[in-house]
Amino acid sequence: MSLLPIIEVPDQLLREQSAPVERVDDDLKRLIADMFETMYEAPGIGLAAVQVAVPRRLLIIDLQDPVEEDGDPVKDPHVFINPEILKASDARKSYNEGCLSIPDQYAEIERPDIVRARWLDQHGKSHEGEFDGLMSVCLQHEVDHLNGILFIDYLSRLKRDMIVKKVVKSRKDREQAAIL
Ligand SMILES: [Zn+2]
Repeated sequence: MSLLPIIEVPDQLLREQSAPVERVDDDLKRLIADMFETMYEAPGIGLAAVQVAVPRRLLIIDLQDPVEEDGDPVKDPHVFINPEILKASDARKSYNEGCLSIPDQYAEIERPDIVRARWLDQHGKSHEGEFDGLMSVCLQHEVDHLNGILFIDYLSRLKRDMIVKKVVKSRKDREQAAIL
C-alpha cells in the first residue's frame, strides 16, 4: 500500500465529473487500499477517488466511531462504487463540514437529513440502503465530489472565494516555511 497525494482547491480536476467504474479488478482494489491508507493518515472520514487525482466514481467512508477504551477508533470501512442517491428527505439538517481538499476550513452546511442510495461494493456486489446522521452527510459530500461539487459551493460567492484564498495562502506559507 502507499500514500497518495491529495489534491486541493483550486485544482480544476476537483471540478470534473468523474467517470463510472467499469470493472472491479485488482487495479481498483489496489486503489481502494491506497485510498484507505491515505484517508486514515490524513486523517479524514471520507475520500473520493478524484481527490487523489483519479476521476472515477468511487468513494470510501469510515466514520471510525465509536472509539475503543484504549483510544483507538474501531475501523468501519465502507466502499461505494458508482453510488447513486435515489431519494433524499425533505427534512434537512446542518453539520459543520470540512474537506481534505480544502484543508483547515469549515462551514455549517445544510443537506437532506436522510438519503436512500444504491452502489456496488469492492466485490462488485450491488447494495441499496438508507442513511441518516453523519453517514448521510458524508455520503452526500463525497457523491458531490464525483460531480465536481464542493461543500463551499453551498456558501455565498464571497465566502467561497475567501476560503479558497485562505487555502492558497496557507499552502504558500507552508511551502516557503519548508525552504528555511
Ligand atoms: Zn471533501
